[in-house]
Amino acid sequence: MKGIQILMYHQVGDFPEMASHRATYCDHRRFATQMAWLKLGGYQVLRMEEALKCLRGDAPMPPRGVVLTFDDAYENFYEYAFPILQKHGFPATVYAISSLLGQSASWLAADGHATPPLMSAARLRQLHSAGIEIGSHSASHVRLAEQGTEHIREEVTRSKKELEDALGARVDHFCYPYGSHDIRAVEAVAEAGYQSGTTCERAWATPEDDPLTLPRKAVSWGDSLVGVWWKMHFKNISKRPPVRRQTA
Ligand SMILES: [Zn+2]
Repeated sequence: MKGIQILMYHQVGDFPEMASHRATYCDHRRFATQMAWLKLGGYQVLRMEEALKCLRGDAPMPPRGVVLTFDDAYENFYEYAFPILQKHGFPATVYAISSLLGQSASWLAADGHATPPLMSAARLRQLHSAGIEIGSHSASHVRLAEQGTEHIREEVTRSKKELEDALGARVDHFCYPYGSHDIRAVEAVAEAGYQSGTTCERAWATPEDDPLTLPRKAVSWGDSLVGVWWKMHFKNISKRPPVRRQTA
């Protein structure tokens, strides 16, 4: 592999068959199979901070490095994904929405989804102590590229502070809601002091990537093990050229 595979999950659980919106659901049995396969295949599951070291050249690039990311911090992460991750000793990065801790995924109602519960601050602290990395997914889950610059800054900086207060620990990683980002959003993430930012561009992360616009691959409802393997090894298609910061 040419870099690190950052996989993107949303909800993991027991869901009815679905015809649409499949990208943000993963059946827990499939998830268990995927994790067992990563273990058997000798993949090295990294924390985001470890992946950053490899991408920066501060640590050797593992031949099969993977980062597991979970957007929105659903309670079903704790219920279904966490026990499976623990069984394998795998770390993960969970991105929480700071103003919605312990509430529900209310933004999903607009698209006709159910609005499942989101993890509370106490739950996030529990996971953080168990080695799960907690990152920010903004303060209120808005499309950043569609907001005014001041609002972007507020979403990015306020969520960092609120999550750091809730956890009593640094929050170094950001994930753009809906993958929506532009140069203003990327610069706001840089100014706020985050070390990484993840998008929904479908590629593996390489040392050439800006750490604040790292691509990811979504694992969705319809993905069999072969589908995940194929996505990891062959699907490498960014939808658009990366947002480039002026670097000093
Ligand atoms: Zn989200």
